[in-house]
Amino acid sequence: MRVVLDWDGTVTMRDSLWMLLDEFGDREIFAQAEKDLGKTLSYREVMEMELATIQVPFEEALTFLLDSVVVREGFHELAAKHNPLILSGGFHQTIEPLLAREGVSLEVRANRINPRTDGWLIEWRDPEPCEVCGELCKRRNLPTERPMAYVGDGYSDRCAALAADRIFARDALARHLETEGVPFERFETLTEVVAALAA
Ligand SMILES: [Mg+2]
Ligand SMILES: [Zn+2]
Repeated sequence: MRVVLDWDGTVTMRDSLWMLLDEFGDREIFAQAEKDLGKTLSYREVMEMELATIQVPFEEALTFLLDSVVVREGFHELAAKHNPLILSGGFHQTIEPLLAREGVSLEVRANRINPRTDGWLIEWRDPEPCEVCGELCKRRNLPTERPMAYVGDGYSDRCAALAADRIFARDALARHLETEGVPFERFETLTEVVAALAA
């Protein structure tokens, strides 16, 4: 089973981009943009609008993340047993130092950030909209191997998760799938995911 892992809110206990926005960004724009996501604003518009409110030097933000991001229980075991692909709407420059901190080496597919001091600018890995949902979505960057298990928690996982043979979901993704009547397995720790994959 090929395992694909979202990063923020899936590997990390709290969404590290939300942590950055809360610490360094504009909270009002952040709160409004999250409300409008998927309604009047696309995922791309929300991400670009939010990240542009961060204007601190990258080193300062990275130091904050390295000091404060906590990974979910079972991450090391899942990484060792399944060599999952990390597929994230976040950024190589914020994910890879945290993987190094954890002593874990995994393939990462993510975007890049240009941390301009007049507002961070996203360099999209794949700027073409998804043919299924119309958003800049992670589905296009899924691996081709099947069967595949997808593990995620949020809005940007919705479309990609539907392409998987098994879906592990928590938080907003779990609520969405429940509403849509899509079968999934609920998780809180990655230890539970490891156990379910072994069963
Ligand atoms: Mg997430
Ligand atoms: Zn899509």
